[in-house]
Amino acid sequence: MADQHSTAATAAPVDFIRAIVDEDLATGKHHGRVSTRFPPEPNGYLHIGHAKSICLNFGIAQERGGSCNLRFDDTNPAKEDVEYVDAIKDDVAWLGFMWSAELYASDYFERLYRFAVELITQGKAYVDSLNGDQIRAYRGTLTEAGKNSPYRDRPVSENLDLFARMRGGEFADGAHVLRAKIDMASPNFNLRDPTLYRIRHAAHHRTGDAWCIYPMYDFAHPLSDALERITHSICTLEFEDHRPLYDWLVGALIDEDRPRQIEFARLNLNYTVMSKRKLLQLVQQGVVSGWNDPRLPTISGLRRRGYTPESIRDFCARIGVAKKENVIDVAQLEHSIREDLNRRAPRVMTVLRPLKVVLTNYPEGQVEEVDVINNPEDASAGTRKVPFSRVLYIERDDFLEDPPKKFFRLSPGKEVRLRCAYFITCTEVVKDGRGEILELRCTYDPSTRGGDSPDGRKGTPRGWRKAKRSSITSIPTRST
Ligand code: ATP
Ligand code: MG
Repeated sequence: MADQHSTAATAAPVDFIRAIVDEDLATGKHHGRVSTRFPPEPNGYLHIGHAKSICLNFGIAQERGGSCNLRFDDTNPAKEDVEYVDAIKDDVAWLGFMWSAELYASDYFERLYRFAVELITQGKAYVDSLNGDQIRAYRGTLTEAGKNSPYRDRPVSENLDLFARMRGGEFADGAHVLRAKIDMASPNFNLRDPTLYRIRHAAHHRTGDAWCIYPMYDFAHPLSDALERITHSICTLEFEDHRPLYDWLVGALIDEDRPRQIEFARLNLNYTVMSKRKLLQLVQQGVVSGWNDPRLPTISGLRRRGYTPESIRDFCARIGVAKKENVIDVAQLEHSIREDLNRRAPRVMTVLRPLKVVLTNYPEGQVEEVDVINNPEDASAGTRKVPFSRVLYIERDDFLEDPPKKFFRLSPGKEVRLRCAYFITCTEVVKDGRGEILELRCTYDPSTRGGDSPDGRKGTPRGWRKAKRSSITSIPTRST
C-alpha cells in the first residue's frame, strides 16, 4: 500500500488534461509551448479546493517544461484587498510552487479597454442603456428566447462615443453597460449579449481611481489568457457554459495561438464548506478566529493544524483529475497527512497512565541501554538509546488482570515483548487495600534482548501474529 501511494505522489498519472497537453506538444499546436496560469480572485484566502487547481496548473507546467503564471483576477474592486493577495502568494509558495510571473488582470485594463473598442469597431459590441431590471427582463427564460435591446443597433460611432464617456466618468453606476452583440435567442444564456463592461465608481486596490468602468470576468479572463500567451486555460466545470463566449472573444480579437479552455470537476469534500463567500461570513461574524483558524479548510488553516505541503500535494495527486463531479471523503485528506507524518515525524515513547512494573529477576542497580528504532517506517531515521532497568512503567491499558480472548497485551501468567527490549512475564499483581493495582511483578528473559527470542517465541503463546499490537511500550523510571 505505502509504495503504491508514494508513487501516486511523485509520478502523477496522465489524466485527460495532461493527455490533451501531451497531444498538443506532439502536434506542435502551440509551437511546443505549455503555458498555464492559476487565476485566483483576491477576495478571500485559498482553500483546499484551490490546492487542486494549483497542483494541476503548476504541476503540468513543471512536468512538461512549461510556465505557470500566478494571475490575480482582480476585476471586482469592491471585494478585493491586498491582504488577500499576500495571503494567496504565501499559500502557493508554501505548497511548494513558484510562479513564472506574478500578474494582475488590472495590469491589462488599458489593453482590455482597447480590445473593447476594437469589438465596437467590428460591430460586435454596443453600449446598452437599459437598466439592470430591463436587461434581465429582455434576456428571456430557459424556454423563451430573449429580445433585442432597443439600443442594440446603435451606430458604431455612437457606441465609441458613449463608451469613451463611460470611461471618462460622465455617467452614474448602472447608467450604461457595454454588451457583446451575439445572439439573444441562443439556448446558452452566456451568449445572449453578455455584459462586458460596467460602470463602477469604486477605488481599486491597485489602480486606485484611474478607472470607473471595470471589465466583467468573462471578458477579462479569456483576453488576459491571450495576452499572457496561455496555451491551456484550465478551470472548473461551472465555466463549461462560458466556453462558447471565451472562444467567441478570442476568435474575434486574437489572430493566432489562441488559448484553449479546458474544464475539470472541482474538488468537493464531504462535511466541508468550501466557498470563499461562506468562509468570509464565518470570519467576519467572528465564528472563527480568522482565515487561518485550524478548523477551516483554508490552506493557512490546514497549515496551522499541522498539515504539510507534501501531504496536500499527495492528496491532490491521489484524487486525480476528472470531468465528472463527485464528493471526496475528507478521510482521504486525513489519510494523506497521517501517512506523511508517519514517515517523517520524530517519535518518542511515552505512557500517559503509568503502571509500575518491577522486574524481579533483573539485578538491582543495573541499567543498560537498549536501541530503540526511531521510526519503523523509515530505516534512515536510525535508533536511539533508551535506558532499561529493574523498574519500568507501562501504559495502564496494556495490562488486564482478567483479559478477554484475543487480548494480546500483558496479563497474569502471560508473556509479552517490550518494544525493542525484552520479553517479560507477569508473575504477580500487587494491589492496595481497595483493590487498586499498585504494581506488577514480572520476570524478564535475558536471552530476548532487542525483542527477539532465540527459540522463535513471538511474545505471546498463541495468536501473536494476528495481534494488532506487536509489542507494548515501556519507559524507564525517572531515576535511571
Ligand atoms: P469559491 O467558489 O470557493 O469562492 P472561486 O472559484 O470563486 O472559489 P477563484 O479565486 O475564482 O475562487 O478560484 C481560482 C481558481 O481556483 C479557479 O480557476 C477555480 O476554478 C479554482 N477553484 C476554486 N475552487 C475550486 C475547487 N473546489 N476545486 C478545484 N478548483 C477550484
Ligand atoms: Mg471565481
